[in-house]
Amino acid sequence: MDSVEEEFTQGGMTRAVESGSCRVIGALKDAAALLPPEELTELLKTAFRYRNAIDAALSHAVGSLDCATRNVPDRKLTQGLDAHEWLSSTLQITLSAAYAQVQLAREMPKLPGVACAFAVGEISSQHASVVARCVKAVERAGGPRKEAETRLLEEARGRDPRDLFKWGLGLVHELVPHELEDEEERQRDRRCLRLEEAFRGGYEIGGYLDPVGGATLKAALNGLLGPRPKDDLRSHAQRRADGLVELARRALDSGELPVRGGVRPHITVTATLDTLLGNPGAPTALLDWGWPISGKALRHIAQDAEITPILLNEKGDPLRVGRKYRTATPKMRAALAERDRGCVWPGCDRPPEWSQKHHEIPWAENGPTDVDYMSLLCSRHHPLVSRGWTVERRTDRKVEVCPPPDWFGASGFANHGPP
Ligand SMILES: [Zn+2]
Repeated sequence: MDSVEEEFTQGGMTRAVESGSCRVIGALKDAAALLPPEELTELLKTAFRYRNAIDAALSHAVGSLDCATRNVPDRKLTQGLDAHEWLSSTLQITLSAAYAQVQLAREMPKLPGVACAFAVGEISSQHASVVARCVKAVERAGGPRKEAETRLLEEARGRDPRDLFKWGLGLVHELVPHELEDEEERQRDRRCLRLEEAFRGGYEIGGYLDPVGGATLKAALNGLLGPRPKDDLRSHAQRRADGLVELARRALDSGELPVRGGVRPHITVTATLDTLLGNPGAPTALLDWGWPISGKALRHIAQDAEITPILLNEKGDPLRVGRKYRTATPKMRAALAERDRGCVWPGCDRPPEWSQKHHEIPWAENGPTDVDYMSLLCSRHHPLVSRGWTVERRTDRKVEVCPPPDWFGASGFANHGPP
């Protein structure tokens, strides 16, 4: 076989892709090792442009495969699979990535200007997808598709794909306003919140909020959390998780949630008196639907508001059921806020609305619900009490905190750092 014939066989083309790629990879490795930053930047610009061009060629090939297999009876050439399923299973890419590839390949022939810019590497596959999506929206609503393509392509050369998409939505609104309204309606329809009990305890959450819903939640969380204090060691994700629970806790605390089945929404914990008192050998407490929690977790919950204690005797018969226990009335909260002006922990400046009511004599030990025996502690310092720190109100009304006896133990104060 002579070299011209060889060029048009599968083997010849595979070898061409391999040898070309090897040369590119070698040159990039050399450049990374040898070139100064300025020259390396220039080389990266060139390399990224050609990567775009390769993506365009790949997209074209995907389009050819799609066309050649789509109308074959029973999809015999792809073992009965749609093009994107076929690509996903043979190339080990996700179904959604394969679907995006096929969609892009189908759109390109309808967008000659975009296809041209993509083929020479001026724009990336993400840019091309964004343009295709926006043009499709304009077309769907009977707007001027050619004008949309031209203007989007102009913008694509100077924006990143997400920025381009936002600009594109503006264009859709300008050309066909009702289409953007319909898109918003579709986004709202996608809304969902998954809240699933995890096998090992706790809950997995996930879902999707439309732009307005998501911004509302974000604003509430940001407002609640405020700027991150320097000494706050929680991760961003942990702070957001705490914020979400705090929003729910406040909603429950406010007493403004509607009554269902004769009672306001609340959490229920079942426990024996032994568990509550932390006596050795006591059984676990049971949260809501029967998840076992420790006596320590129980006492932590018991310090908070709006609990329904169901105390059982040793046989498991309820001693007291459903008498709602409230840690503080709104009047008492106001009095506490007025007196303590926020978290009483020395050096802490978190305001009353970020603080919880702490019983100086634990509720489990019959501590009275009385302002004189309570103080405000923020959600960061309150848990320290259940880790053994004590808070004492001195006669001059100032507050003293003492670490647990083992605080200065093996690992030393310096390693823990002050809370
Ligand atoms: Zn505090």
